[in-house]
Amino acid sequence: MSESSNGHPAPVEATDVADAVVVGAGVAGLYQLYRLRALGLRTRVIEAGAGVGGTWYWNRYPGARCDVESLSYSYSFSPELEQEWTWSEKYATQPEILRYLEHVADRFDLRGGITFDTRVDSAAYDERRRRWLVATDTGERIDAQFVIMATGCLSVSKAPEIPGAESFRGPIHHTGHWPHEGVDFTGQRLGVIGTGSSGIQSIPIMARQAVDTTVFQRTPNFSMPAGNRPLPAEEVDAMKANYLAWREGQRHSGFGVPIPEPTLAAFEVSEAERNAKYQDGWDRGNLVSILAAYTDTLTDAEANDTAAEFIRSKIRSIVHDPELAETLSPRSFPVGTKRPCLDSGYYETFNKPNVHLVDLRATPLVEITERGVRTSEREYEFDAIVFATGFDAMTGALTSVDIRGVGGVSLKDRWADGPRTYLGIAVAGFPNLFTITGPTSPSVFSNMMVSIEQHVDWVTDLIAHLRDRGIPAVDATERAEQEWVAHNIEVGDGTLYPTAESWYMGSNVPGKPRVLMAYIGGVGVYRDKCDEVAANGYEGFAFVPEPNLTRA
Ligand code: NAP
Repeated sequence: MSESSNGHPAPVEATDVADAVVVGAGVAGLYQLYRLRALGLRTRVIEAGAGVGGTWYWNRYPGARCDVESLSYSYSFSPELEQEWTWSEKYATQPEILRYLEHVADRFDLRGGITFDTRVDSAAYDERRRRWLVATDTGERIDAQFVIMATGCLSVSKAPEIPGAESFRGPIHHTGHWPHEGVDFTGQRLGVIGTGSSGIQSIPIMARQAVDTTVFQRTPNFSMPAGNRPLPAEEVDAMKANYLAWREGQRHSGFGVPIPEPTLAAFEVSEAERNAKYQDGWDRGNLVSILAAYTDTLTDAEANDTAAEFIRSKIRSIVHDPELAETLSPRSFPVGTKRPCLDSGYYETFNKPNVHLVDLRATPLVEITERGVRTSEREYEFDAIVFATGFDAMTGALTSVDIRGVGGVSLKDRWADGPRTYLGIAVAGFPNLFTITGPTSPSVFSNMMVSIEQHVDWVTDLIAHLRDRGIPAVDATERAEQEWVAHNIEVGDGTLYPTAESWYMGSNVPGKPRVLMAYIGGVGVYRDKCDEVAANGYEGFAFVPEPNLTRA
């Protein structure tokens, strides 16, 4: 068996030796491989799918698009890549984003470093050797100095918590792992459960195919028109000429998208002025304009309700049946505190005579039957069912791998009361394990591209720091972790986010601890904090000395 990089023999069970194992070949995993290779590290990327792309590989449901404008949702690390790739629409479709990521994989010759169709089952830290043993479902045992979880925030899908799915005689598709060959609902009676982003994007398209569509809604969501359109060449060229400044703006913004910072509170202006501003945000067709219209939209319930009511008034103006419009109108949480949606004709779809809405608050789901779906009121018959029921977000992909740190402690147990990390990047007691856009980092409260690049760059710099100095391992201190977790909660408590039952709070998964899982302090503020930690010699981390392997 070969030697590990610290010169000591790998354990007998190891089938390979690497400097780093990266789990996942999505946006994060691809860039992490690129950076570690440039450092000269032998890196193995392990990917469960048959291709690259992560979220954009799996989420192939009709209408899947990114809600961040395409010109902002791309890597910034290569000016050549920026110049040679041309986006075709304001909001890129899933196939176009996947083509982009495949292009990146080919252009930077990354595929050879990736092992596809393979899942990482476990990763165990050997304290004595300061190294990890990573086990896969294909029987590999990789001895590695670093493990980097690039597993995504929304990659473990969840089904509705009702029995009977196996008894349904037709197909059931989950938006989060859609058949690659596509699905045609033409002539079928379709039932859709779930009205989050995936449901809201796909329902208008599926309802155009199906002969009859029934949507099961537990909580209505706020959605705004995407205003999608082809991108004219002059707009693309202008961005290509300005990318450098634009990227800098992204990195120092609140959500990873440069927009004018609000200066006024909602009630500092008249109702007419407010509504004009909301109308402008509505017409712009993006997630941030309305939410960032005023300084207190996400911190003050009354201010928030002015924006919420504006959107509800839009729903009433689109949906012809007032009762139906009211059922589609969110009233149980402040706008923005559950992930809002962008749509192309969502509310309009409910004006069609062959599209029906079932309010699960009035008549809850009971079971899936052989013929369809049963609520407390009646049974609905379908030819096909779609689950648009979301994900075990933020922590699901991390705790589903059996990760064991110092003393054999499992990450899952460590996080039994909610995720605890330092900066969302490291976990005390799990040396050399890094989580890209991990819980308590801005991650899902941002343009993921921006946050992913920032984390990958930061982790790569830390790894370079260790290797330059011959330090075998680094571990977040308990104290730094505790302070960061407390800071995350404190910042969150200053906002309305904790008032909602959302996947941001873990509320969508029964039994999951209720805690705000991402950092809402802002992308720019967070970046400054990470940079400061690095500049202060990686403050809050302990450097683990070389092992003495001659000791018994
Ligand atoms: P989601 O936002 O979690 O929505 C899941 C939906 O299913 C909700 O309406 C939920 O109702 C419902 N649901 C879940 N379990 C249920 C049950 N047992 N009974 C009845 N209803 C149930 O999931 P998603 O739509 O897949 O989106 C997840 C996230 O992925 C988004 O928030 C977004 O961050 C990301 N995403 C982004 C895009 C994009 O950029 N365009 C597209 C899709 C997804 P409750 O609200 O009552 O829980």
